[in-house]
Amino acid sequence: MTDGPVPTHCPYCALQCAMTLTTTDVADAATTPVTVAGRDFPTNRGGLCKKGWTSAELLRAPSRLGAPLVRGADGALRQASWDEALDLVAARLRDIRSEHGADAVGVFGGGGLTNEKAYLLGKFARLALGTSRIDYNGRYCMSSAAAAGNRAFGVDRGLPFPLADLDDAETILLLGTNVAETMPPFIGHLAGAQAAGGLVVVDPRRTATAKLTDDGKGLHVQPAPGTDLALLLGITHVVIAERLIDEAYVAARTTGFESVRRSVASWWPERVQAVTGVAAPTVRRLARRLAAGGNTYILTGRGVEQHVDGTDTATAAINLALLLGLPGRLGSGYGTLTGQGNGQGGREHGQKCDQLPGYRKITDPDARAHVARVWGVDPAEIPGPGVPAIELLGSLGQPGGVRALMVHGSNLVVSSPNAAAVRRGVEALDLLVVCDFVLSETAAMADVVLPVLQWAEEEGTMTNLEGRVIRRRRALAPPPSARDELWIMHELARRLGSTAAFDTDPEAVFEELRLASEGGIADYSGIDYAQLDAGEAMYWPYPRGSAGTPRLFADRFAHPDGRARLVAVTVRAAAHRSAARGELTLVTGRLLEHYQSGAQTRRVPELLEAQPELRASLHPATAARLGIADGDPVELANGRGTVRGRARVTTDIRPDAVFLPFHYGDDQAANLLTSDAVDPISSMPEFKTNLVRVTSLAEA
Ligand code: SF4
Repeated sequence: MTDGPVPTHCPYCALQCAMTLTTTDVADAATTPVTVAGRDFPTNRGGLCKKGWTSAELLRAPSRLGAPLVRGADGALRQASWDEALDLVAARLRDIRSEHGADAVGVFGGGGLTNEKAYLLGKFARLALGTSRIDYNGRYCMSSAAAAGNRAFGVDRGLPFPLADLDDAETILLLGTNVAETMPPFIGHLAGAQAAGGLVVVDPRRTATAKLTDDGKGLHVQPAPGTDLALLLGITHVVIAERLIDEAYVAARTTGFESVRRSVASWWPERVQAVTGVAAPTVRRLARRLAAGGNTYILTGRGVEQHVDGTDTATAAINLALLLGLPGRLGSGYGTLTGQGNGQGGREHGQKCDQLPGYRKITDPDARAHVARVWGVDPAEIPGPGVPAIELLGSLGQPGGVRALMVHGSNLVVSSPNAAAVRRGVEALDLLVVCDFVLSETAAMADVVLPVLQWAEEEGTMTNLEGRVIRRRRALAPPPSARDELWIMHELARRLGSTAAFDTDPEAVFEELRLASEGGIADYSGIDYAQLDAGEAMYWPYPRGSAGTPRLFADRFAHPDGRARLVAVTVRAAAHRSAARGELTLVTGRLLEHYQSGAQTRRVPELLEAQPELRASLHPATAARLGIADGDPVELANGRGTVRGRARVTTDIRPDAVFLPFHYGDDQAANLLTSDAVDPISSMPEFKTNLVRVTSLAEA
């Protein structure tokens, strides 16, 4: 920690833009201003978005939590000492465990935690708490793309190539991702494809990213919500029917072509048009553009992944990329754009219910033996697989379910689907402990709130959307009452009588993570803080003694035979229900000014001022039919809940859909309307194609 500029990265999204933080008095966290400046880095090239520029404001926000809070007999939260709060948590956890068993204690982690915290949280749950019930909010984010990547390639790294490779692309197909708003510096990497007339954006909304094609050179394709899979099957049909595939590549590097060929045989463009609304000539044009040669990328985002058929949709995108011979070809490829700050690292180190560090399967005896050796325990002491997030949350307070929940880095009563049901589950808990630095909607319901450090006050590592490991550095002292979550885990483990080691020094935890990951899919064993401090250009897998792997799949895929899997997928009739008369399809997503549940960005005055309340985007024709004018108060409702906001009337949305951002709480929480039905492979909930009725609340 120095008085000079400290190089670090933005606390928010997975682009992890490089920035410097400068403060004149590092020890005076309460009053000294902190200055943020963009830093030149291959991903953001000095650029930041509004969220990045204002990120330091939360460090001094009056809403920042001070001391630990404990709920008193009167039902109100009151300040407590750390000893009182931790003693209380440990005693309650012990009681609940002895009365209901270890799996009555659950842990809910987050994709924004550092690698060190994500790693230690998995170890803490399994050894100190002895529970299998751990999962995290990345289940809502990357699980479908991760499942599809693992199935096709044998490995899941969001971008298997450096982001800067996109600069030389002639064609980029963006499927369900609005990077111009979610990670604005990213669009600098689209400029080459844009200039070449090869930028294609598939999105039911005319997003800021779709508007990049307004120059008339690119293409915006607006399928009906939930029909991306049919569109991809149709493009694949054309590619095969017109013999546009890379036959040599398919023969040498893949398996499963015949089954995929059969599966798309009936998806001719006219049928695709009937299902998606995308004109048959457009489907053909798209296929031919993608197959035209030159540097070509296919990139997916949450828009096509956050569905009950999200894994199959991502798989269809991968199939298309493989048939065109893109993955592993220098200057081309397939990738998925990770969303949360450490959405990549967060899914590698053991926060997932079915996983151990190194992206190892918890059911694999060799993996268990390896991790047990590093942890100094018998493999039998590591619980077996738990249950994914939705199942875990569905069991809250239920007989045989989770009765005590520890939450780290997540505002789950706002960000979870079917949020009212989740809230009821949380209310039924015997104990809710939340680690946060603001009183989020979830923290406000807690029995104990533990105030933690913010990004600029801690050391650690993150793994960005490229699989590049980067350093988070401490630029200033934290408030005296805040604590590192590593310390909290150490203290609770000690109080619970765990004999396992829970280090409090981030570098020591990273050293242990290196060992635990060694030999796994996400192998970090060759990476250390000293090398990262000398330059952040280390991508996993980075086995000890290797040179790392910026680009994957050049020679082989990660399956034992080295080949990628083409997997036949099909449209399941029951995947998305058609709208009945008067219903609209609800599409949820993000705004430039806010991040995730908005727990942080709604506390930054400039960001809140720009987007202060929920706005429901409606097409002018729909608004006219419903008697709604721009700015009118509106209500959106379905069988799960009711949401209130104001109408935004815009041609940026299809007439059959309504868009809501998911950054607001209370009766503005979009997830009151979303379904907890899940993808059978990834357990991703359905966030994008729920049906709602919209009514005006304006006085007649
Ligand atoms: Fe931060 Fe993402 Fe904005 Fe970059 S794009 S400044 S990482 S929120």
